[in-house]
Amino acid sequence: MPDEGLHLALTLFIIASCLREDERKAAIALIPFGLLCDLDSLFVHRATLHNIFVIFIPIIIMAIRREKSKYLTLAALLLASHIFMDAFYNGVFLFYPFSQESYNLKFWFGLKERGLSALFTWIVPGKVGEIVYVVKPCPSVPEIGIIGNGTELTILIFALLCFFFRFGRCRI
Ligand SMILES: [Zn+2]
Repeated sequence: MPDEGLHLALTLFIIASCLREDERKAAIALIPFGLLCDLDSLFVHRATLHNIFVIFIPIIIMAIRREKSKYLTLAALLLASHIFMDAFYNGVFLFYPFSQESYNLKFWFGLKERGLSALFTWIVPGKVGEIVYVVKPCPSVPEIGIIGNGTELTILIFALLCFFFRFGRCRI
């Protein structure tokens, strides 16, 4: 999985780009939505909270309350960003509990001998591609990384600075 630091960085970038400076309280309250999917490490990792149905929970709450909410929309976006990012790192069980297959998205963009080319595909381990990290839903993972390397650390520092400069000057 991408390390938690990278999830946090993306969460901070999204919040800082979607909310106004005076919405500091909401900005801080929304941070957990970019990270809480990984709580399913306690249950069935990459499945219980890493499926597309989780994304609809804030949207269903909006439908029940019959009012649009920028914050619930942002919460759904943050959940989606976490799952989408994990889908590019060894796969997630996108349709759990209705399907036991993990989807591992692959994207490549660059130069080949014929010129610029892009490749997008998904692999369902056990069916199409080779066996990878996520094969079938399992109860837990042995470790959860916080920061994996210097690049992630740099991205996180920039995200924290971005968040601070956006919301840090206002009082709650
Ligand atoms: Zn995750």
